[in-house]
Amino acid sequence: MLDLKVVNGTLVIPGTGLVRGGVGCKDGKIVSIGPEAGMEEAERTVDAAGKYVLPGVIDPHVHLGIFTGDFGAETESETRAALAGGVTTVGVFMGGGESYLGQLPGLVETVEAKSSTDMFFHLSMFTPEQLDEIPQYIEDFGVTSFKFYMCGVTGVFPNVEDDFIADGLKRLVGLGGHLTGCVHCENQEMFNADFAKVAEATLDGGLREWAGVGTAESEENAVLRACRLAGDTGARFYLVHMSSGKGVKAAAANRPAGNLFVETTSPYLSLDKDDPSGLLAKMLPPIKDASDREALWEAVKDGTINSIGTDNVSLNREIKGADKGMLNAMPGYAVLQTHLPVLLHEGVNKRGLSLERLAELTSKGPAEIYGLYPKKGTIGVGSDADLVIVDLEKEQVVDEGKLYSFSDFSIYNGRTLKGWPVMTVKAGKVVVEDGEVVSDAGIGNYLRRTK
Ligand SMILES: [Zn+2]
Repeated sequence: MLDLKVVNGTLVIPGTGLVRGGVGCKDGKIVSIGPEAGMEEAERTVDAAGKYVLPGVIDPHVHLGIFTGDFGAETESETRAALAGGVTTVGVFMGGGESYLGQLPGLVETVEAKSSTDMFFHLSMFTPEQLDEIPQYIEDFGVTSFKFYMCGVTGVFPNVEDDFIADGLKRLVGLGGHLTGCVHCENQEMFNADFAKVAEATLDGGLREWAGVGTAESEENAVLRACRLAGDTGARFYLVHMSSGKGVKAAAANRPAGNLFVETTSPYLSLDKDDPSGLLAKMLPPIKDASDREALWEAVKDGTINSIGTDNVSLNREIKGADKGMLNAMPGYAVLQTHLPVLLHEGVNKRGLSLERLAELTSKGPAEIYGLYPKKGTIGVGSDADLVIVDLEKEQVVDEGKLYSFSDFSIYNGRTLKGWPVMTVKAGKVVVEDGEVVSDAGIGNYLRRTK
């Protein structure tokens, strides 16, 4: 007897294509795929007629607890928002200037107790001590990805120099296996100069003026250096949150074959600097021109981009401080629940992106890059039974008051989106039905990876 079967839908299997058939789940795993006729009986049968069944979304780029300082509370609320949006696994960037060895046991415990999605960690590297501890991070906590900031986040994280990054990447190569460096690509000196210039000219600027402090040229410069670092060291290197046409074009033209991966985010694919949400959408790197947004879509379609995340940073209006002006507002927005609907609307329904390509970028790609495939990232026998059922015809207005995040605003509030997840299955159980999270909190696990 199966625990669950999903029948009559169209399965979207990255690398295989669209397949008509059913999926059988037992003990948290997918145990059968194929024609409904021969399938075993199940405790629960879900009829997905007229709908598409995708592998659960993996958002490899999430921050939790940055502004509230409460990792536990945000893990609890934001992973429920993620589930409601079809995201079943998140990769969370942990940052700080000290050894992580003391805090990691508690963080892992918190994930096991409170997270509703599965979760893995990337650790940000700022000090030689942290680089020295990489073997322990791998061995004791299953962390296999490490982030470097070419440009810091003012007041939150400092930047590191290229020779520090090169040192880190060489160590990853020396340790062997599937270790990956991640890099925030902006040029710190250009950022500082632009910040001073913009601050002097327009103290009370908006989203449009904010775009002037994180230019496409600054991103392009850093991408060229990142490609060089990847080429020189041979390390697997992942460029986070590309936000500009110049950035992705520089990556496409200069990437060493096989070891450089490129990410963008759903907000960069759906907003531009004239967006009516104004400073609520302030971000680092800043949201840029409509032409940058379209260049990112081109890069999605032509294969330059390998992964789409959110760079989710949850905060409420009070902390965001959009009314305090361009320089004082905080960067970030909660977007886990709207990630998939935005990509279905803007990508599949509006720009003709195929569902298979979408699933590659939102599930298989991140799973492969971060060493989770084929446990995650596909619909296959033996894989975790994490699925999202999508109705491409469903239209709904985003209502910021009804989202699961603790945040009290959405940069998509009032937008009508066409294409929504209607059910999420996690480890073979229905956890979201008609937009409502129906599972208990804390069903997620910490994902220990091996190199
Ligand atoms: Zn980030």
